[in-house]
Amino acid sequence: MKKNTTISFESICIKDFEKAYTTLPHQLPIYATSSFEFENIDHGINIFTGKESGHVYSRYANPTIDAVANKIAALEVFGTSLKSWGIMTSSGMSAISTLTLAILKQGDALLTQANLYGGTTELFQKVLKTHGIDCIFTDLQDSAQVASILKNNTSIKAIYLETPANPSMTCIDLGEMSQIAKKYQCSTIVDNTFATPYLQQPFIHGIDYIIHSTTKFLNGHGNATAGIIVGLGEENRKKVWEVMKLIGTNCNPFDAWLTNNGLKTLVLRMDKHSSNAQQLAEYLENHSKVKKVNYVGLPSHQDHKVASQQMTGFGGMLSFELKGGIDTGIAFMNKIKFCTLAPTLGDTDTLILHPASMSHLNIPKDIREANGITDGLIRLSVGIEGIDDIINDIEQALG
Ligand SMILES: *Cc1c(COP(=O)(O)O)cnc(C)c1O
Repeated sequence: MKKNTTISFESICIKDFEKAYTTLPHQLPIYATSSFEFENIDHGINIFTGKESGHVYSRYANPTIDAVANKIAALEVFGTSLKSWGIMTSSGMSAISTLTLAILKQGDALLTQANLYGGTTELFQKVLKTHGIDCIFTDLQDSAQVASILKNNTSIKAIYLETPANPSMTCIDLGEMSQIAKKYQCSTIVDNTFATPYLQQPFIHGIDYIIHSTTKFLNGHGNATAGIIVGLGEENRKKVWEVMKLIGTNCNPFDAWLTNNGLKTLVLRMDKHSSNAQQLAEYLENHSKVKKVNYVGLPSHQDHKVASQQMTGFGGMLSFELKGGIDTGIAFMNKIKFCTLAPTLGDTDTLILHPASMSHLNIPKDIREANGITDGLIRLSVGIEGIDDIINDIEQALG
């Protein structure tokens, strides 16, 4: 609508006649709008029918969110000739729920590992299972067993994996897993949150879908909750986008914008996370009060070889076991001064967690220990501060 002289006072308040666009904004704007207007009815029809590209409604797509989704999708295929797409979601969990609901239906089954992110295990057990999608947990490092499970259960339509995975940073051979899956017409999904596309590109190894909690390293500043699904091929994009749009798990423009700010320093941060974690792991490995260090960058780690084959760096996540029981773990945590006790990961500051007394407090000890969470296990998301400050804090707490 064009401004004219007869327009009323209140209408001037309501309408945005003057779009003050002149030169292009240097930084990505936040498109805080729930809908987009059409120039005329034909324009609207063409956009709705897909004849013309354009935005309709922000639950479907939004320019700020699209810009960030496309950027992450491009990073996941960097250096290849693959064509990727990305759909940002309201959280990492909504990326997982949206994708699994899009590619699995009642009667299908999902094969996965026991040591997943806690929320993912709960989603599979409490939500997918009750809606008729069975979730089978196995050791995905045992490829012969995976092949035999797939051979004997044709209802398995997807394999879901994390590498490296909590708490002992075990790795799964991505190439091997995707080869077996293809043989049995199974899709593969990788949660690439710990590594980020800078350190690991699952598509290169034949994986079909990647999800991230961008809340973690991709944003890196701990101020936005969001997720992303990245895939290949237009048919797959349409299938996933439709479910995202209908269950309404879309990201919001502000959190996408914050994520974009974080992404600008991804390379600098990941290099520093990796070098700080390597130094801390080497320090801990030589400490008399430490029983075991789990860091994929250490040659002593059981999966160092597979990690070296499929990762270009080892990231900021590590865990270690203190000699002693639950009291030793709690006493150590009580002495921590510099590192932050917070139940997240991937922020710029070092975050420390004692799973036995925090995240896994209500899980019976035998089940905990079967998953590598011993009483003396400490998990660290190593930050990008001065490494001496991190080591000094750990040292005085171990003393
Ligand atoms: C945090 C996390 C998730 C869940 O992401 P939210 O953004 O918290 O929903 C999934 N996978 C991994 C590996 C995570 O660390």
